[in-house]
Amino acid sequence: MKKITCQERDDLHPENMDVLSSCTDLDGTYHSYPYMETTWGYGDKGIVKDIRHPGDRWSDVDRLPCEHYLLEEQ
Ligand SMILES: [Zn+2]
Repeated sequence: MKKITCQERDDLHPENMDVLSSCTDLDGTYHSYPYMETTWGYGDKGIVKDIRHPGDRWSDVDRLPCEHYLLEEQ
């Protein structure tokens, strides 16, 4: 899994891919702090994973910067 920048992630246009899996834990029930994860790809092939660390409330600034990972082996 290779970490990529926001720009590199946007260049892949994940919004055109399928959501293969997602985890939204805004209450921090499972991660002990608010956490969101989305894996995008085609069919069963994951291509990019987004991780966000939202603030305690949805309107707050994110607790940590977003992270993006390239799943495809290069
Ligand atoms: Zn980002």
